[in-house]
Amino acid sequence: MAEMTRKGLWRGVIREFGEFLPEIKDEAITTLGEGNTPLIEASNLSDKVGEIRLLLKYDGLNPTGSFKDRGMTMAVSKAKEDGSEAVICASTGNTSASAAAYAAKAGMKAYVLVPEGAIALGKLSQAMIHGAMVLQVAGSFDDALDIVKEIAKDHPVTMVNSLNPYRLEGQKSAAFEVCEELGHAPTYHFLPVGNAGNITAYWNGYKQYKDSELISNLPKMMGFQAAGAAPIVLGEVVKKPETVATAIRIGNPASWQAAEMARDESGGLIDMVTDEEILDAYRLLAVREGVFCEPASAASVAGVIKMKDKGVLNNGDTVVCTLTGHGLKDPDNAIKNAESPIKVTADINDIIKVMGF
Ligand SMILES: *Cc1c(COP(=O)(O)O)cnc(C)c1O
Repeated sequence: MAEMTRKGLWRGVIREFGEFLPEIKDEAITTLGEGNTPLIEASNLSDKVGEIRLLLKYDGLNPTGSFKDRGMTMAVSKAKEDGSEAVICASTGNTSASAAAYAAKAGMKAYVLVPEGAIALGKLSQAMIHGAMVLQVAGSFDDALDIVKEIAKDHPVTMVNSLNPYRLEGQKSAAFEVCEELGHAPTYHFLPVGNAGNITAYWNGYKQYKDSELISNLPKMMGFQAAGAAPIVLGEVVKKPETVATAIRIGNPASWQAAEMARDESGGLIDMVTDEEILDAYRLLAVREGVFCEPASAASVAGVIKMKDKGVLNNGDTVVCTLTGHGLKDPDNAIKNAESPIKVTADINDIIKVMGF
């Protein structure tokens, strides 16, 4: 007789990983079923990365299309438990999309500050449709974050940027999932670095699983900034960060020191990749692997290619790349970086000719 093998609904990261996270009262838990994203074998890139085992943690498949949901479920649930009625964040886009959605689910108000003209279209549309008050600041992300910190100090709103410690707690869940999926930690974990919260959260998650004796090894943490927005690599604040990868266009990362600790404790590194390398990896993932991520996410794979070329990676290494956000977030860049559609008449002979048959 056939048997059902499903274990029931995925309950979101707070309920699935509760024993490893700060406690939240069940009635305050606000979840959209985040987490449980696929770890995809990248099997078509061996000419670029050699005989390593490359896996893509496709976190663009979270409910609002980025890993930010893993932390937002914790931050918004905690705010609700504390009786807060509103949340506020500065954002390059994905935090605002996530905050807006989780606030909507919790019945709370969301205020989001975004740098004017520097946020991808999909992300802006999300914050708007979920009913957040969207404030376009004539300034950078870093300016907007400074203002948000001031407002949250003495007004009845909870800040849900990654300076809110509950965000990073929830984001640890991605490392837990990688361990559960592989049965061990990878040799290397590559990811893009913007505010540097995610690399910090992954490292904390891996360490926690090791302390709990669920895994015996720890990965080397490999963070990649965009060359035009690489304060950690350069060792100084970048006043005017510039990159096509808007999600990591950050000149003064909030978790700078914690990320350096993750790098040093793990024996990893934080390096940079150019926009050209980012876009090459972005197209490669879409064309060869069938995986559509946003440009910032591709910095991780660009980093793997760069490290392979430098001889850092060895055959047989298990390498996980986090693809942080979905490609549909940023349709403008997809269209700009692909072949244009071909105009044809509604005539079969014309179309067959163009197809090359
Ligand atoms: C937020 C974000 C990042 C950067 O993560 P940090 O934790 O700020 O380093 C990278 N990619 C995408 C798609 C993001 O939304």
